[in-house]
Amino acid sequence: MDAQPDAPVDTKAAYLKDLLGAGLLIDTGVPGVYGRSGVFEDVITRFEATVTAAGEGQAEVMRFPPGMNRAHFARSGYMKSFPQLAGAVHSFCGDSHAHNDLLQAIEGGQDWTGGLTGTDVVLTPATCYPLYPAVAARGVLPSDGGLYDLQSYCFRHEPSNDPARMQLFRQREYVRIGSPDQVLEFRQLWLQRGQALINRVGLPYQLEIASDPFFGRGGKLMAMAQREQQLKFELLVPITSVEQPTACLSFNYHQDHFGQTWGIATDDGSVAHTACVGFGLERIALALFKHHGLDVKAWPASVREALWG
Ligand code: ZN
Repeated sequence: MDAQPDAPVDTKAAYLKDLLGAGLLIDTGVPGVYGRSGVFEDVITRFEATVTAAGEGQAEVMRFPPGMNRAHFARSGYMKSFPQLAGAVHSFCGDSHAHNDLLQAIEGGQDWTGGLTGTDVVLTPATCYPLYPAVAARGVLPSDGGLYDLQSYCFRHEPSNDPARMQLFRQREYVRIGSPDQVLEFRQLWLQRGQALINRVGLPYQLEIASDPFFGRGGKLMAMAQREQQLKFELLVPITSVEQPTACLSFNYHQDHFGQTWGIATDDGSVAHTACVGFGLERIALALFKHHGLDVKAWPASVREALWG
């Protein structure tokens, strides 16, 4: 008889334990919600500086908070495709009586959130979502379209013991809005730039055609169509698994989805196309700590040179 296979080692939980033990991440008691140490933040700041340099100062810088307009969020279609990942902000809007009920529920250890009411704010699901309505509000695009530099915390409800799958994390993005030719040229340029950046910091990677985690049975068809049309590429780096490497960068062509949704027009009156490149900043930091070690001072000279100069 064959020997019993070893119990699978949970490499995700093990890496999380290492990161918490080294003080790079700080536990909050909620899976996927962590504090970050100064060293961790410095790595992100330094990596972002390399992204900024690659962007060559061409883009309009915009920073939105991690909460966005609920009506814009609904109109974006996010709840059709990814309802399982969404998060909405609720607040207490009741009278004294309702307040008493709320405090009693907290006191009794019951769910007290039923007494809250939805607000006009939802948590930003992806850094580029607040951009499209803001660009639409400006009217027709200039003849050379638009190019934007964004960064935001994002929320996705997927609690996990995989440190590379956080619920609250930052994405740095560049977004191009314009003609199909303009946005596809942008995506091609960033496919090259993204690989060059990851090479410089000494990480192994593979580039793959990918799809988004669309919800439900209909979602499978949407994911298949997305792959067939090669709308999404991901740059994957092994972090907690070699077999299932983690997407650290994504290169997305949305065709005219956001242009249609928001009525964004190019200067010749066509519906604008959009594309974005997204850098998963925590994931990139986690990949660097995994491959180069938890002590940044012991990282290879070439990597230190690339980040700290
Ligand atoms: Zn985006």
